[in-house]
Amino acid sequence: MNDCLFCKIAAGEIPATIVDRTETTVAFRDVAPVSPTHVLVVPTTHVANLDEALAVDPAIAADVITQCARVAEMEGLADGYRVVINTGSLAGQTVHHLHAHVLGGRAHHWPPG
Ligand code: 5GP
Ligand code: ZN
Repeated sequence: MNDCLFCKIAAGEIPATIVDRTETTVAFRDVAPVSPTHVLVVPTTHVANLDEALAVDPAIAADVITQCARVAEMEGLADGYRVVINTGSLAGQTVHHLHAHVLGGRAHHWPPG
């Protein structure tokens, strides 16, 4: 959608290190990784966040989650991984196109802080 960073990455208009593509999702490496593996999975359809995705079509969210598990497998994260979807300002969402963080390659403690 016109001025959306992740729409532009999904369309190939802004460069990113693409990990995988499906018909409905794109996975690419986070520009500022917080873990040895830090991949973002986004739907190719523009939705601002998880709530909007579920309102438009729950399959959008299902496809993103399914692809997170595939990316974890592709990245060799058999010992465990974390999927994070920040939703809204209090959660720290900064890019308003739904994205799931796939984090792995180190211990991730709980609670996350
Ligand atoms: P949020 O805080 O919204 O959940 O996460 C946004 C994520 O997008 C951050 O981890 C940030 O590092 C990442 N990010 C922001 N701009 C870019 C970019 O231009 N390219 C890539 N690959 N990642 C980005
Ligand atoms: Zn977008």
